[in-house]
Parts: sequence; structure tokens; C-alpha cells
Amino acid sequence: MEKNIILVSHCMLNIFSKVENFGEEEGREDARKKIIKTIIDNEIGIIQLPCPELIMYGSKRWGHVKDQFDTPYFRNTCKKELETYILQIEEYINNGYNIIGILGIDGSPSCGINLTCRGNWKGEIGSNPNLKDTINTISYTKEMGVMMEELKKLIKEKNIDIDMFGFTTENAEEICKYIENKIVCKK
Ligand code: SF4
Repeated sequence: MEKNIILVSHCMLNIFSKVENFGEEEGREDARKKIIKTIIDNEIGIIQLPCPELIMYGSKRWGHVKDQFDTPYFRNTCKKELETYILQIEEYINNGYNIIGILGIDGSPSCGINLTCRGNWKGEIGSNPNLKDTINTISYTKEMGVMMEELKKLIKEKNIDIDMFGFTTENAEEICKYIENKIVCKK
């Protein structure tokens, strides 16, 4: 039996954890399904990471930027949520499993790997006379989201070496190839 495991951001498997979207990017669902199909077809075990935003802000949350989640409480909650996952990873590694990697969601303020979003967002939406200007401060920056930063720290503390890669609509093909290349057969 092949012993491969991948960790994925919660919404790779459960899209209902995401911020309600009023116009999903074209091709995104197909891209997501393609990756999940690759994982399932190759009989890779899946560990679904927690969705910190759903846990802390619920289903009715607005879309946020990293600057808003970058608080001691948010970080600490992510860390606490992730601690048992680190122990699971350790247990699997100790028993000869191949951890393919951690698949995050690029662009996310929490789960971005190569890309997150920043912006000067704050204050009362209804009384903001320059709401459009505030929204326009959003930009994508080449850094991790808050939860993935915490996950990276926990992995480092344990001296575990795991690749982290981020999903975008455009890179699904590349991710599928990457996953297939990292599969180890132990029969
Ligand atoms: S916080 Fe992470 S898991 Fe939750 S919806 Fe955002 S990207 Fe997905």
C-alpha cells in the first residue's frame, strides 16, 4: 500500500467555509476539482487543515486582508488549532508515511503560501465616505497568510521538512504534476 499523505487548506475540500462570493473566478472550481481528483486517484491520504476564518469570524464574515487578521489572538488561535496537526504529522512520519506537502490557497490572508492580500481596511463601513478608496488599497504581496506563517513556525520548531505550495486557478496543472512527482511507492 502506498503511504502518501497531503495536508490541504480546509476549503480545498469544503468550499462552504469560504467568504460568500458574489462572482467566483472563472475556472476556479474546475481547477480545484482537478487537484482533488489527482489526490484521490492516486490514493493519497488527505488531512484537512482547519479554517481559522470560519472558526473565528463565521459564515457571514466579510472578505478581510492580512492586516486585519494579524493580531496576537488570531495568531495564537491558529497556533492552538494547528498543534494537534503537527503531532499527527510527526506520528505519520515516525511510521514511514511520505508527507507530500501542504497545499494552501494563494491570495488568502490566512492560508496564502506565496501570496496574500494586504490593504488599509478598518472602520465603520456604513459611515466611510471614501469606501471605494479604502477598498482600492488592497494589493497582493509575496508573503504567507497568517495561519500558514504559524504553521511554518511549528514545523520548523519540530525540525520537520515539508514543502508548502499555494493553489491558484492558473497553477492547477502544475500542482497536479508536482503531487504526482512526489508520490512515493512503498509496497
Ligand atoms: S481561511 Fe483558509 S481554509 Fe478558510 S476559507 Fe480562507 S483560504 Fe480557505
